[in-house]
Amino acid sequence: MTAILIYSDQDNFALELVTAARSLGAAEVKAVTINNEEQAQVLANAGAQVLKIDNEAVVSADVAAVAAAVAQAAEKAGTDTVLLTSNRRGKELAGRLAQIMGAGCLTDVSSIKIEDGQIKCQRNALGGATVAVQTITTDKKVIAVMPRTFEAATGAGGSMEAIQVNIPAATIKLLEVKAKSGDDVDIEAAEVIVAVGQGLNDAGQLPMIEQLAKKLGGEVACSKPVATDKKWLSEERIIGLSGKNCKPKLAVLLGISGQVQFTVGIRDAKTIVSVNTDENASINTMADYILVADLHQAVADMNGKL
Ligand SMILES: Cc1cc2nc3c(=O)[nH]c(=O)nc-3n(C[C@H](O)[C@H](O)[C@H](O)COP(=O)(O)OP(=O)(O)OC[C@H]3O[C@@H](n4cnc5c(N)ncnc54)[C@H](O)[C@@H]3O)c2cc1C
Repeated sequence: MTAILIYSDQDNFALELVTAARSLGAAEVKAVTINNEEQAQVLANAGAQVLKIDNEAVVSADVAAVAAAVAQAAEKAGTDTVLLTSNRRGKELAGRLAQIMGAGCLTDVSSIKIEDGQIKCQRNALGGATVAVQTITTDKKVIAVMPRTFEAATGAGGSMEAIQVNIPAATIKLLEVKAKSGDDVDIEAAEVIVAVGQGLNDAGQLPMIEQLAKKLGGEVACSKPVATDKKWLSEERIIGLSGKNCKPKLAVLLGISGQVQFTVGIRDAKTIVSVNTDENASINTMADYILVADLHQAVADMNGKL
């Protein structure tokens, strides 16, 4: 593997991609930054060879402009392989970048490794019921890796070089950046998750779930119907295929049956505790600890003990 170029607009994800590129045995790990001096420094400090773009025409909100800039950086870096983060913006960027580069593209990649000289990418298949290992057969490759698949890189010996890109004048003017209103919880970053499902009687019981999560130092999450049908919690807290992919150290799952669309977002948790009145609930097949009990009583008991 020669050089690999990485890009993410978020420092922590960019550092994870540096580790990903190293894991593929890249001779050189290059990172492109766009109008972000601070990130350039962070990545250089972690040992990446940073290509800095400072160009007002590359507005971060204009993914087409970002894709054009990253494509030109890849050409200057002399690399055929670009790694991105598979979040909402990263996936849009991946498609646009692959189109410009004439590259094959895979997103939602949950693991990558080199085997027989090829990059093998693991992704969910059949709605999360199974995983498939796929390879890109074109010379040029754009791969978007799920956040938190790799540890953030550390290292030394990086460098910084300013590069010029030729981007048409911006068609989007960024007027203001505002924090997202509403629930800004990041359940993907939580080390402990207390998730509720439709086994919860009503929204009036949520405070005791929140209390348990607080006592355990974690966040409250939920199955999809709790947010989308019942509207008891925000959609930011959904785990699964249509929600977030969480890898906590501890997941306490309360009144959740364990349909595959849910489990795909929690199966990488280190320890899973299931509380369910049904001893045959399918979630129990993947749980490390099973409590066959009414969740309301169990949570009250746990809150009392903790
Ligand atoms: C395309 C598609 C995408 C989807 N994406 C998602 C997704 O991202 N995330 C997701 O969660 N779902 C998703 N779903 C829905 C998914 O298929 C399930 O319907 C959903 O996960 C079920 O949620 P649940 O386990 O809370 O509810 P249920 O399946 O109704 O399970 C409730 C559980 O609570 C138990 N219970 C009942 N009372 C108690 C009690 N008092 N104490 C303890 N346990 C009790 C029951 O035994 C049961 O096991 C998706 C579906 C489709 C078709």
